[in-house]
Amino acid sequence: MEFKILETMGHEEVVFCHNPTVGLKAIIAIHNTILGPALGGTRMWAYKNDQEALEDALRLSRGMTYKSAAAGLNFGGGKTVIIGDPKKDKSESLFRAMGAFIERMKGQFITGEDVGIDVNDIEFMFMETEYVTGLSRAHGGSGDPSPMTAYGVLQGMLACIEKKIGQKSVKGLTIAVQGLGHVGFRLVELLTQDGAKVIACDTDARSIEIAQEKFQMEVVPPDKIYEVKCDVFAPCALGGILNPKTIPLLDCKIVAGSANNQLHTDLDGELLHKRSILYAPDYVINAGGLINVALEIEGYSEDRARLLTRNIYYNLKRTFEISEEQKLPPHIAADRLAEERLDKVGQIRRSHFLDKSKIRRTNFSLEKKKAV
Ligand code: NAD
Repeated sequence: MEFKILETMGHEEVVFCHNPTVGLKAIIAIHNTILGPALGGTRMWAYKNDQEALEDALRLSRGMTYKSAAAGLNFGGGKTVIIGDPKKDKSESLFRAMGAFIERMKGQFITGEDVGIDVNDIEFMFMETEYVTGLSRAHGGSGDPSPMTAYGVLQGMLACIEKKIGQKSVKGLTIAVQGLGHVGFRLVELLTQDGAKVIACDTDARSIEIAQEKFQMEVVPPDKIYEVKCDVFAPCALGGILNPKTIPLLDCKIVAGSANNQLHTDLDGELLHKRSILYAPDYVINAGGLINVALEIEGYSEDRARLLTRNIYYNLKRTFEISEEQKLPPHIAADRLAEERLDKVGQIRRSHFLDKSKIRRTNFSLEKKKAV
């Protein structure tokens, strides 16, 4: 690795972790700790080579800096990637060794679940370090973050609807939901409770069956969801689904959903903007789960998590303001929102705050104050 990459992407530190006895090879990337300790999940993946793993760690940790900053959290961005096949290479000792490496960072980095990792793996890490979050409720944690993610998506959707359609609820609107998994299912629950008409799809027949037993909704085949005439299209399944093939098919006014990395490339954000489809940048609208695990670190309360997740509504409003003021598509305006907070709060903290592992409570509500 060259220092040039760290310079270009703005990383502070990259740690290579190696414990041959337990077969652990992992990379911890710390992107930015100006707002507080770096927070980000641990991913386990059968990377083709070390370079691919490093690039993933660098990209994902930078993304976490932006996501935490835009969500108004007092955390920075970091990520761990473990090089290994989650189906074959997991063991108690591997995760305890990973926990020991995280413990060595003395709270400068706090981790939780990501792709390939489940709550049991986190609990093995927890045996060696307290710097983990997203534990099960049985272990005093905040449990499954998906309901909070869905609640946040609804708040973000409301900001979009107010801007684009000029009404304050989802009542009477048609929402197309792609994916009825952990988040999609909860979102459909909230939408139908509030009087929206839902049209949904999933590639898994059982997920559709379960949702249809509970909610009044129409179902379409997965490849037809893009063409559904609706007010809002809510992608809650995979990344990369907004691309030159799908965007021309869309018959909606707004795209607002939970999926990570919805835009295949930044150009697709431009394409949506040109088609006058209002896009809720994914990392701003899907931050409810992150807010939930972040509050676990500070001392979890579901009420507080809801209050802070409600701020997603204001975060999106601010994103759209920046988009109009600076004539930028919303996905770029979201980066500006995060950078604005990193700059302003960063300046204050640089001048007096040096203990990176110390957490500042996140307790403001944008209903009362301006973010920065
Ligand atoms: P999940 O795996 O529980 O659900 C995804 C659902 O999408 C599954 O039911 C799957 O069958 C379905 N699906 C897969 N491919 C599909 C396709 N082509 N068309 C239609 N349906 C398809 O995942 P989740 O936890 O509900 O997360 C959904 C998305 O939101 C993911 O992109 C995830 O990264 C993102 N996200 C989740 C959270 C959270 O708290 N769970 C937080 C932030 C972001």
